[in-house]
Amino acid sequence: MTDRDQRLQVKRYRVRRRKHGTCSVCTFRELTDGRFHCRKWPDRQGSCDTDGKLPKFQFDETVMTDLRGS
Ligand SMILES: [Zn+2]
Repeated sequence: MTDRDQRLQVKRYRVRRRKHGTCSVCTFRELTDGRFHCRKWPDRQGSCDTDGKLPKFQFDETVMTDLRGS
């Protein structure tokens, strides 16, 4: 992967996180009606890295693979 690819990947990551929330890059994410939220917790969106409850936010490495592009 070139530097440019890597920069694009990071950019896509930031866009995704801003647009779809913290939960969209978390290993515990679930998708309901097009919105990402914590597993089995539809009302909880994006506060999992700060509110101290479980499941706690955990970055999902496979998200970066998805964002690598062609
Ligand atoms: Zn979450």
